[in-house]
Amino acid sequence: MGLRGSCHCGGVTLAVPHAPAWVGSCNCSLCRKLGWLVAYYPDDAVKVTGETIAYVWGDRLIGIHHCPICGCGTHWKTLGEDFGRMGLNARLLDGFDPAKVEVRLLDNAGD
Ligand SMILES: [Zn+2]
Repeated sequence: MGLRGSCHCGGVTLAVPHAPAWVGSCNCSLCRKLGWLVAYYPDDAVKVTGETIAYVWGDRLIGIHHCPICGCGTHWKTLGEDFGRMGLNARLLDGFDPAKVEVRLLDNAGD
């Protein structure tokens, strides 16, 4: 069953094939400030519409996208290297409840 989501202003929409079985709470220098809960999907499984701006820092190999209007973090994707997956901010998914999904702590504090 497909699931949809959007940023706060609705300018960016997300469509995924199913609800995430678990989400990642990452403690890297960016995620701990943004408060993302990340759900992972194959690159071609997620449909993103609307304009986003990618933030890239350091020697990162991924772009961290957000809505230019309301600022919600929407997703990240690779800038070249194939990771076999992309991540999106599960908090944007319709009906998402962090209390009802497994949250895995991802220890990336060195990044
Ligand atoms: Zn927005």
